[in-house]
Amino acid sequence: MGEDVETLKRRLSLLDYLRQHNWASRPAGRSEFVGLCPLHDETRPSFYVNTRKDVFYCHGCGQGGDLIRFIQLSRHLSFRQSLACLDSQTIPAVDSATVLEQTATFYQQQLDHYPEALSYLNRRGLHNPALIKELDIGYSPGGSLRRYLMAQGYSFDLLRQVGLLNMNGSDAFYQRIIFPLRQRGHLINLYGRSIGAAFSHRFLPGTKGGLYAWEKVRHRPEVIVVEGLFDYAALRQAGFDNVTCSLGTHLNADQFLQLCDGPRTVYLTFDADANQSGQQAAEQLAHRLEAHGVAARRVLLPQGHDPNSFFVQGGDARQFQSLVEGAQP
Ligand SMILES: [Zn+2]
Repeated sequence: MGEDVETLKRRLSLLDYLRQHNWASRPAGRSEFVGLCPLHDETRPSFYVNTRKDVFYCHGCGQGGDLIRFIQLSRHLSFRQSLACLDSQTIPAVDSATVLEQTATFYQQQLDHYPEALSYLNRRGLHNPALIKELDIGYSPGGSLRRYLMAQGYSFDLLRQVGLLNMNGSDAFYQRIIFPLRQRGHLINLYGRSIGAAFSHRFLPGTKGGLYAWEKVRHRPEVIVVEGLFDYAALRQAGFDNVTCSLGTHLNADQFLQLCDGPRTVYLTFDADANQSGQQAAEQLAHRLEAHGVAARRVLLPQGHDPNSFFVQGGDARQFQSLVEGAQP
């Protein structure tokens, strides 16, 4: 029994479990994160996770312990029930990585066979075949993945758990351009951009990981951060190779720590939306980065533009470069 518990806990850290359940946190010193307590109502964060010891403690309600203890408390389960619950939620990482790789390859093979996918890429100004291949961009037509993967021997349960199938057993990604998300070489998630009327952005359950393609830029003294993968692709295509993407304007703790892990200047190039939400997020992030000793500049795009639309509507690399040079603290 004791051995099983340790094996289960090694499969999934407390912090990863909490993040999978949308716990928002910020770093609070060496190997500690703090956020609102999921176990009691509060408005000021007092729930601490120690990643070295893999335990939590809440200064508000006084509860503390390991992942199993957390599941007991949050789901009102016995110790044994919590173990069973955890076991059903943690898929061996190797199975999940393998099925994701096969899925990404399958989607890449579909891309050229669907004119609607290619014309969508074209509309978004993405036309460089070498870059499309480098980023492993694919297309999910919907309706064919389940059959394909089950023919490869994957169980229905595994595909459900990884999130490739919906509750009703249909493909989760339907008519979406797919970008595989990797971290240190491992495929950890897929991003799907709808080419139709469906909700624009979709990920599989679980972590989105750190900054996109961070390994390529982490040693650069100047890094451009964009919020969307089409922005990333547009900049790469225009010749900027010091770009990364945060997959949204709210950085997770891993992404924030990556930007803070060395001296650099960060150019935040979020959307210039009419409602200012991108700019407000950039301003707050710039303040947080500066507070951690990282130089941050905000690149101001013309109103209503994101980096992708800037290039689609005729902007060129030289014009973008002058926006970067004119970026404000
Ligand atoms: Zn609490």
